[in-house]
Amino acid sequence: MTRCQFNERPACSVKNEPFPEEVRCTGCGAWIEVWSDEDEACCVRCGRIVRKEE
Ligand SMILES: [Zn+2]
Repeated sequence: MTRCQFNERPACSVKNEPFPEEVRCTGCGAWIEVWSDEDEACCVRCGRIVRKEE
């Protein structure tokens, strides 16, 4: 049984809609988008996991 998790957002999170932040890949230098509610994303160019710097 598979369900999409994105359909189950808590109501209180509606005010804080996620927005994309640009983070530079440490592997190839490309700019990739990391959503504000996520800590890391996969680089579309080299496949490296890029973490946001806080
Ligand atoms: Zn990269």
